[in-house]
Amino acid sequence: MANTSQNLSPFASFMARLNVAAEVLNLEQRFLDILSMPEKTHIVSLPVKMDDGSVKVYEGYRVIHSTVMGPSKGGIRYADYVDLDEVKALAAWMTLKCAVVGLPYGGAKGGITINPKGMSVGELERITRAYTRALKDVFGVDTDIPAPDMNTSKREMAWIANEYSRIKGAIIPGVITGKPLELGGSKGRTQATGFGVMVSCMLALKKLGIDPKQETVTCAVHGFGNVGSWAAKLMAEQGLKIVAIGDHTGAYYDENGLDIPAAFEYAAANKSLAGFTGGKAFTNEELLALEVDVLSPSALENCITLKNAKDIKARIIVEGANGPVAAEADAILNEKGIFIVPDVLANAGGVTVSYLEWCQNRFGYYYSEEEVLKMTVPMLENAFERVYEAHKKHNTPMRIAAYIVAVERLSIGITMQGEY
Ligand code: GLU
Repeated sequence: MANTSQNLSPFASFMARLNVAAEVLNLEQRFLDILSMPEKTHIVSLPVKMDDGSVKVYEGYRVIHSTVMGPSKGGIRYADYVDLDEVKALAAWMTLKCAVVGLPYGGAKGGITINPKGMSVGELERITRAYTRALKDVFGVDTDIPAPDMNTSKREMAWIANEYSRIKGAIIPGVITGKPLELGGSKGRTQATGFGVMVSCMLALKKLGIDPKQETVTCAVHGFGNVGSWAAKLMAEQGLKIVAIGDHTGAYYDENGLDIPAAFEYAAANKSLAGFTGGKAFTNEELLALEVDVLSPSALENCITLKNAKDIKARIIVEGANGPVAAEADAILNEKGIFIVPDVLANAGGVTVSYLEWCQNRFGYYYSEEEVLKMTVPMLENAFERVYEAHKKHNTPMRIAAYIVAVERLSIGITMQGEY
């Protein structure tokens, strides 16, 4: 995780905000206690035969934060910084995300501590299959449904679906979402998270009375992976001026607006923005500090911290990443009056289309892309509206409002389930 000693860890950030929401709601202690602890934490060892014949053992995680509202849902992340604290936080955010949108899911997350860039495709396939075997009794259409996250994609999802189906002796595509179209994936899933970021951005602009058709709206997008690149592309298509983009290799700026379709193609072909010549090269720190209308941190956790929060000059932040703002930075950004569309709302497009994929797998009928997007937009709009109402009603920032909406729903679910 992108964390330094002066920042709260991702799970501590989750807890800090949960405590604020609980205080606003005067929440009964039992609800707070239940949501403060994952239901189950699986830590698995994954022995893998490497290409050179040696065997290496990796550590994998699957944290089930909540199943109150339905089977747990959430992606699997491959990165060398993955640790239990991060996976716990990501799982908890999935619980909130699904509750904010009103999906019939709880929250989970998985991860393997590996550097996937240093591994061959064969090694990655073997570790993915080992992870699936280790969690064969955890994953399930009605129990726990994984999906892609950082450094995993439809390729890994296809391997998991295949390994799981082999073990169970039946074809069970609904055990995982984010699959290739050919293997029961949904149209629109690849761009879904970026699509949701764009939708949230447009809704935020509308709430603030900013009309991109009447005035130029400038944007900076931090992170140019699946989320950031699609968000930038779709926001540009809405007429927003993307003046800066950046990924782990560097950042690029053009005050007149970057050619986003060209950057999108470049990043897809080269796997990063390194060497992109379509703008003036500068740093990600400079990108984050730009005076723009919209900043979309769509890379990692803890990109905006106590260290740089004072430098942020954007009017609106739309969080494409999970947890890009450390909880300690909240007060500084709030004081500046920045309107923040929090992660659990802004990047919920991915899991929303995952839900539609799971539905399609269950009833065996597949929607057109148009149908998928037509169903996704009102779900995201409703979620935005509900959070915005809570923001007005409780006079809290949008982030706390999102926690409030989720916690209220979860508390009702917990109460209805009855005695412990
Ligand atoms: N990994 C994505 C997220 O953080 C998608 C999860 C899913 O589709 O289940 O929202």
